[in-house]
Amino acid sequence: MQYKQFGKNGPMVSRLGFGCMRLPAVGEGKDKHCDDEACTPILRRAYDLGINFFDTAWGYTNRDNQRMVGEALHDVRDNIYLSSKLPPTEVQEPGDFRRKLEHSLKLMQTDHLDFYHMHALNAGRWEHAKKVQMDLDMLKAKEEGLIRHISFSFHDAPRVMVEIADRGIFDTLLCQYNLIDQSNEAVMAELAARGMGIMIMGPVAGGMITTGGEDFMKLYDTPAQSPQELALRFVLGNPSVSLALSGMQSIQMVEDNVAIVERMEQMDPAEVESYRTTNDKLRQLSDLYCTGCAYCNVCPMEIRPQQHFKAYNRAKVWGLFEAAKKDYLEDELDKDAEKCLGCGACAAECPQFIGIPEKLQEIKQYFLG
Ligand code: SF4
Ligand code: SF4
Repeated sequence: MQYKQFGKNGPMVSRLGFGCMRLPAVGEGKDKHCDDEACTPILRRAYDLGINFFDTAWGYTNRDNQRMVGEALHDVRDNIYLSSKLPPTEVQEPGDFRRKLEHSLKLMQTDHLDFYHMHALNAGRWEHAKKVQMDLDMLKAKEEGLIRHISFSFHDAPRVMVEIADRGIFDTLLCQYNLIDQSNEAVMAELAARGMGIMIMGPVAGGMITTGGEDFMKLYDTPAQSPQELALRFVLGNPSVSLALSGMQSIQMVEDNVAIVERMEQMDPAEVESYRTTNDKLRQLSDLYCTGCAYCNVCPMEIRPQQHFKAYNRAKVWGLFEAAKKDYLEDELDKDAEKCLGCGACAAECPQFIGIPEKLQEIKQYFLG
């Protein structure tokens, strides 16, 4: 395993972190819970192979995931870093934060968490977090040693990430970044230069890169032996990134991913540059260059045009049509397109001069015929 310092003042963490969200589960609906017999050997194999970072959250697996992680790893607690998350929406009244943090500590059989995140922040959740003073609650918990590092996970436009980081309390962040979505890249570099630790989720773009398979691999000049390996080499090759989370569901996946990270010792810095050059060339093939800046997010119907363009480019530029169409439908972007009033308020803000209302309809036609 390789290790890297997590931010300016952070510990040495394994470059591969265990994202526990997808641990095997049994039962359906409200009865769904972690499958202890399946989960324990997977988590222990990861630990034995040198993974020292385990990330869970308040809500994962019907709120059973923190317990599972605690049970499987409590006897090696001092050798690992435990990370969890609480959405600001879980904090409504004074005392909520503290009560839920203490509940998490109990479930995880520990007296402190190494990293504690405001979960899935966007502009709205951040406003709520400030209103209910979750930022102050986290500072107090840190002062008392209940959490060692204050963190946030992020799902919004890059400029919102900077606004949140400017609050000045966060040590690390968790965001999306992968071969087919680098919209966060510039702000990641800016925040890493300020000393924040950067952790990546979705290195395989929610499975799109692995689904793209051999066709996807042919686009790049790479020594990687699989799309999964290519995806991790790209993400971990970025100097701003300390570690990537992978949602591993079997011992085989753990062993494969660890082997990938071990092979990265021979990685030449020019390799990542070549991936970037290929990406730039591929994007030039697109008739639509959206940077994901979100300046167009002024829509009275709450349409987010960048989501439509992301799906379109995944299909058109990287040839991932079926996977992109699935996401397009799951996110109900077709319904968004139907809601569009054609007012043009979004297009007036776009620095790329994209004719947004027309493009939304073209993209709907492209996916649905
Ligand atoms: S043109 Fe459509 S997407 Fe753009 S602001 Fe108006 S309603 Fe929203
Ligand atoms: S459509 Fe234009 S304004 Fe909107 S995210 Fe893309 S580049 Fe930015």
